Amino acid sequence: MKYQALKEWTDKRDVTLIAVSKTHPASTIKEIYDMGHRDFGENRAQELLDKVDDLPQDIRWHMIGTLQSNKIRAIVPHVHMIHSVNRIKILNYINREAENIGKTVDILIQIHIAEEESKHGFTFAEAEKLFSEDLSTKYPSVRFRGLMGIATFTDDKEVVANEFESLNAFFKTIQESKKEVLPDFNCLSMGMSGDYEIAVEHGSNMIRVGSLIFGQRDYN
Ligand SMILES: *Cc1c(COP(=O)(O)O)cnc(C)c1O
Repeated sequence: MKYQALKEWTDKRDVTLIAVSKTHPASTIKEIYDMGHRDFGENRAQELLDKVDDLPQDIRWHMIGTLQSNKIRAIVPHVHMIHSVNRIKILNYINREAENIGKTVDILIQIHIAEEESKHGFTFAEAEKLFSEDLSTKYPSVRFRGLMGIATFTDDKEVVANEFESLNAFFKTIQESKKEVLPDFNCLSMGMSGDYEIAVEHGSNMIRVGSLIFGQRDYN
């Protein structure tokens, strides 16, 4: 599927489309930009920074990959949203760096929903503990916008659907119980090229799609 068709599909459903441009050059991103698209996702800090320099300033950059703490200072001024906040340490660093430059950073808490060990994120129990804290005092320069999850990489749609549904249920619980303190908690980022339809069926309102838009990635 190419960009236009996917964009129509997401617009119809009020879903935000993040075009995941990792490994693709600025010139390719510019083609999608010129069709009016502004939300782009990258998974490596350095690649994101290089592209910030090479592309128009009104792009909304989404950091979707696992972050190292030593890269946070560099990216905080340039990101629109960080989807991949997967531990407390990272949250602390983001808050501190944001505070230093007087910015409030939009973030999503990444939850581990997949069977694979290799995937990162808070467990539901860890996230529950986090959300029970006084977040506005502890992280005044962070705006908690919602949750992110990556499903197991499998052809078994049942497994994927169950994982997305478990995250959706948790998202709704937090949203409902925290609506006074987290009024902007309204983003559920789940779904990629292979599973975005299942994700949206299960409550996703933000999908991160790379290869369907840009073609296969060549990592070399
Ligand atoms: C690469 C990546 C995507 C997009 O993957 P596609 O299968 O190419 O759509 C989405 N989310 C994350 C976290 C990624 O790293």
